[in-house]
Amino acid sequence: MIHDYHIHTSRCGHARGEIQEYIDRARRMGLLEIGISDHVPMYWLPPDRRDPGLAMDGAHFPGYVREVLEMSEKHSDIGIRLGVEVDYIPGFEEEAAAALSGHPFDYVIGSVHYIGGWAFDSPKYLEEYGRRDIGEVYRDYFNLVSRAAGSGLFDIIAHPDLVKKFGFRPEGDLAGFYRQAARSFAEAGVCVEVNTAGLRWPAGEIYPSLEFLKICRMEGVPAVAGSDAHLPEQVGWAFDQARELLLAAGYTEVALFRGRRRRMVKIL
Ligand code: ZN
Ligand code: ZN
Ligand code: FE
Ligand code: FE
Repeated sequence: MIHDYHIHTSRCGHARGEIQEYIDRARRMGLLEIGISDHVPMYWLPPDRRDPGLAMDGAHFPGYVREVLEMSEKHSDIGIRLGVEVDYIPGFEEEAAAALSGHPFDYVIGSVHYIGGWAFDSPKYLEEYGRRDIGEVYRDYFNLVSRAAGSGLFDIIAHPDLVKKFGFRPEGDLAGFYRQAARSFAEAGVCVEVNTAGLRWPAGEIYPSLEFLKICRMEGVPAVAGSDAHLPEQVGWAFDQARELLLAAGYTEVALFRGRRRRMVKIL
């Protein structure tokens, strides 16, 4: 694989390792380009309710941006892009835009981690699945994914079927959800992320599934790859499988970003 565009660092409070360690690992993995995409400060909550174990404080955000830019200057043998992972919270689009403004991001990744106030991807709130109708959870999740794409805030939608993380699936065909999401990506001009972190959870497969990725391909949605590394040794993790999935879905290219402009490169 050419690039890994989804990498966290110790700044977020739940990953380990400094940027330099992630770069060293990426170089050893033979990646040509990486993007650091740490979690944005929790802009939708009042400062006293933000959890330092989930994202860096707003006061640390400019330092993050500066360090990634410095690293990018310092290392010329490997491309280092400035990214960020931003939770999509409906009704807080202006606050999200304000949190991002004034920083020279190469790309912005949008993620749905919350349905209402429920952090459905956190092992801490797993029991909530037992209280809900799984079909409704999926419907709510994919509606949020489509709204995230349409918000205009993002260049890439992360782990687009994250709702499968703990292995819960409704009865019946999921293609309707996938088509709805893929069409919203195509209309908004955002990329779909092929994220290998799903392999580490009960879902046991990459986000998105092959069926979902094929539909993205048919709708003309460009793709990027990410490991969602929270440890240096996870950079480029299981990318042989990500590459196979992309090729199986019919992709021959992936997208690279610079200054929020996209160009396509052939999959090696
Ligand atoms: Zn994280
Ligand atoms: Zn995420
Ligand atoms: Fe992430
Ligand atoms: Fe994430």
